[in-house]
Amino acid sequence: MSDTDGKKPLGLGGAPRSGQVKQSFSHGRTKSVVVETKRKRVVVPTKPGAAGAGAGGNQPSLGDPSKRPAGITDAEMERRLAALRAAKAREAEDAERRAEEERQREEERQRRREEIEAKERADREREEALRLKAEEEERAAREAAEAKAAAAAARKAEILGTRSRAAVQAEEKAAEAAATEATQPAAAPRANANSAEETRGGASAKAPLSPRKTDREREDRDRDSRKGKGDDGRRSGKLTLSAALEGEGGRTRSLAAMKRKQEKARQKAMGFGQKAEKQSRDVQLPETIVVSELANRMAERAADVVKSLMKMGMMVTMNQTIDADTAELVIDEFGHKAVRVSDSDVEQVIDTVEDKAEDLQPRPPIVTIMGHVDHGKTSLLDAIRKTNVVSGEAGGITQHIGAYQVRAANGSLISFLDTPGHAAFTSMRARGAQVTDIVVLVVAADDSVMPQTVEAIAHAKAAKVPMIVAINKCDKPAANPQKVRTELLQHEVVVEAMSGDVQDVEVSALTGKGLDNLLEAIALQAEVLELKANPTRAAMGAVIEAKLDVGRGPVATVLVQNGTLRKGDIFVVGEKWGKVRALLSDKGEPVDEAGPSVPVEVLGLNGTPEAGDVLNVVETEAQAREIAAYREQAAKDKRAAAGAATTLEQLMAKAKADADVAELPVLVKADVQGSSEAIVQALEKVGNDEVRVRVLHYGVGAITDSDVGLAEASGAAIIGFNVRANATARSAAQQKGVEIRYYSIIYDLIDDIKKAASGLLKAEVRENFIGYARIQEVFRITGIGNVAGCLVTEGVARRSAGVRLLRDNVVIHEGTLKTLKRFKDEVKEVHSGQECGMAFERYEDIRANDVIEIFEREEIQRSLT
Ligand code: GDP
Repeated sequence: MSDTDGKKPLGLGGAPRSGQVKQSFSHGRTKSVVVETKRKRVVVPTKPGAAGAGAGGNQPSLGDPSKRPAGITDAEMERRLAALRAAKAREAEDAERRAEEERQREEERQRRREEIEAKERADREREEALRLKAEEEERAAREAAEAKAAAAAARKAEILGTRSRAAVQAEEKAAEAAATEATQPAAAPRANANSAEETRGGASAKAPLSPRKTDREREDRDRDSRKGKGDDGRRSGKLTLSAALEGEGGRTRSLAAMKRKQEKARQKAMGFGQKAEKQSRDVQLPETIVVSELANRMAERAADVVKSLMKMGMMVTMNQTIDADTAELVIDEFGHKAVRVSDSDVEQVIDTVEDKAEDLQPRPPIVTIMGHVDHGKTSLLDAIRKTNVVSGEAGGITQHIGAYQVRAANGSLISFLDTPGHAAFTSMRARGAQVTDIVVLVVAADDSVMPQTVEAIAHAKAAKVPMIVAINKCDKPAANPQKVRTELLQHEVVVEAMSGDVQDVEVSALTGKGLDNLLEAIALQAEVLELKANPTRAAMGAVIEAKLDVGRGPVATVLVQNGTLRKGDIFVVGEKWGKVRALLSDKGEPVDEAGPSVPVEVLGLNGTPEAGDVLNVVETEAQAREIAAYREQAAKDKRAAAGAATTLEQLMAKAKADADVAELPVLVKADVQGSSEAIVQALEKVGNDEVRVRVLHYGVGAITDSDVGLAEASGAAIIGFNVRANATARSAAQQKGVEIRYYSIIYDLIDDIKKAASGLLKAEVRENFIGYARIQEVFRITGIGNVAGCLVTEGVARRSAGVRLLRDNVVIHEGTLKTLKRFKDEVKEVHSGQECGMAFERYEDIRANDVIEIFEREEIQRSLT
């Protein structure tokens, strides 16, 4: 009975089919009894339609007394109908409620859709606003300083806003969790009660629960999404605010940056703040720094640094260089500390260790010979060298490397610099390489003291280098050594013979007389000087000569001054660096190391250094590179500054000031340092009251773009001595109208310049390049010799024209053609793009990839400016 009771609210359909059992009547309130009677009724044959029909279907049968089941009174019938109506009403109500719920849910969904759309719209608008703002800010970048404070305020407000929102969220979450906990236990007992009331059949007990749970979950979700929406709403609201503040503050932040910021703020709120705490660093700041390197030193992202620079109004990329002042502002901005270091600090790695007294060992003296022209300097050097060879040194001198060592009679070694004259001495000294320990002043006994003798004395005195006077040509009948001694007195050189302290030796380079005495005097002087060096330390030395060798690349003759230079050592020399690939002694023999005062040829450089450059061995290649790069940049800056100052401004000022003195500015590039220096000296002497030659710059190697640039800026001509312009320089020169002149003979060069400078040259013989050809293959043909299979790459090759052979832009040979062939036929000319065979008159050393320069001489009229 009880279970039928339980079914009552559910078994709506069962009720109308009751009423055929009397028992139901007696109880009145239960319909279960009716079911039993219904079963009976099934037994009793009745109208099939009435039995199968639902509640609605039964209604007319109930109303109709003829169809009314037997034994049911009107009152009973009435009651049942009432109950049925109530049930139906309840059902309708239920359906209505569900429909209403459905409608609400639909509305909710619609609202959410709209909200999402609105949010997307807001995002787009915000991005647009940010973009516009960024543009505006770029314009307003200069006001950044005053806006900074506002920006800080905005940041603070933002962070605070984020924090309070986080707090609100946390509260919401907590409240939600509490609510869930509250509903869950409440729901559970209800379920229990239900199941207790109803049967043990779990399915029926759980059935009503699970939809309720799903409903709650859905509600939760709805609430969550609403909350999400609310967040977005807040965010967009906040963004509008911050956007406004940012507008004032001059700050630009991308959407991603905003998110990162929020994330950071949340982490901070959750206690991960310590991790994000900024570390203030000491940032080493050289005179200039590349942006990415600056970021690196601050441990910041390069993009952030670029951004910060942009805010300052500097549009730079991370590979660009900025000056120290700008970099310092950036460092401040990031909250670090700038530590200014000089660029030259990179050179600190160069060993500056004080040599300990016990490590010092005696070293041979380094001697330079000076004197007036034709007084026999070269002859004396040769004589000393020869004497030395004769006296038993093995091998003999096969090569001249700018310095050599000889052994004096007492066994002590002496190093001679093989570059006579005070020019070399001065140019070395000018670069800070004081290599000479002793100066031998050569004075011809038949000529006595001459202007250059006096100059030499001045140089030696200025350098505080002791002198030894060699009175040469004593073999000559006209020799008057005493006159020399007396005349030297006038220049404050008091020789020993005149009871002074300067040694004097009478020699003859021609006969070799007195050479031993000279060497002895040098050895004695060296002893007095107590020359010492530490052979155990990293080597340092001076370049006394450097050249670009065709086969071996850049070669430098280095005089080791301290330490020992070894094969494999990494070094920096002037603006160049390298790793010792090979060391060659003054006799051209390979050696493994060179100690103090030993001259060696060094192979393995990355470029040609300049005479006087100091070589220092460093520990790593990186250091060598860094120092070389720094020096190169410094030199470039200096040149640029000097070029701008001396050429355009000074030149013009000068031209105005003394309009009658015209200057002929030139740039000199030569194949070896010695030549370039010789040319410069010769050129500087050219000129008179009206004209002067002004050498703006000189150096070794091919003529480059930067040479052309400098020449253009100063309206100078470029002189190439046994070197050529590289392809880019050539085209640049053509474009800019810079004149490049090539010479192979120094006298021609000086002559030309002289003529040009003095304006005597009415018509000048000028070389015109008419073509270039590249050697592709070399054939050996009996009877003719080496024939070059060439491709004319530019212009035209003419049989009658002059030719030069260039290897790596260095002139190897100049001459004429013996033959010019095209397909076995001797031809007069071959045009660009065609192949031909060429052979040189009396010259065989040709190689594939050499370039043949074809030129013609023509007389042209030219005017001087
Ligand atoms: P530099 O210009 O100082 O290098 O002088 P050189 O070494 O070229 O010599 C100039 C000229 O003087 C040459 O013709 C030499 O042959 C000559 N000469 C050099 N030394 C002597 C010497 O000791 N005796 C004689 N008689 N002639 C010499």
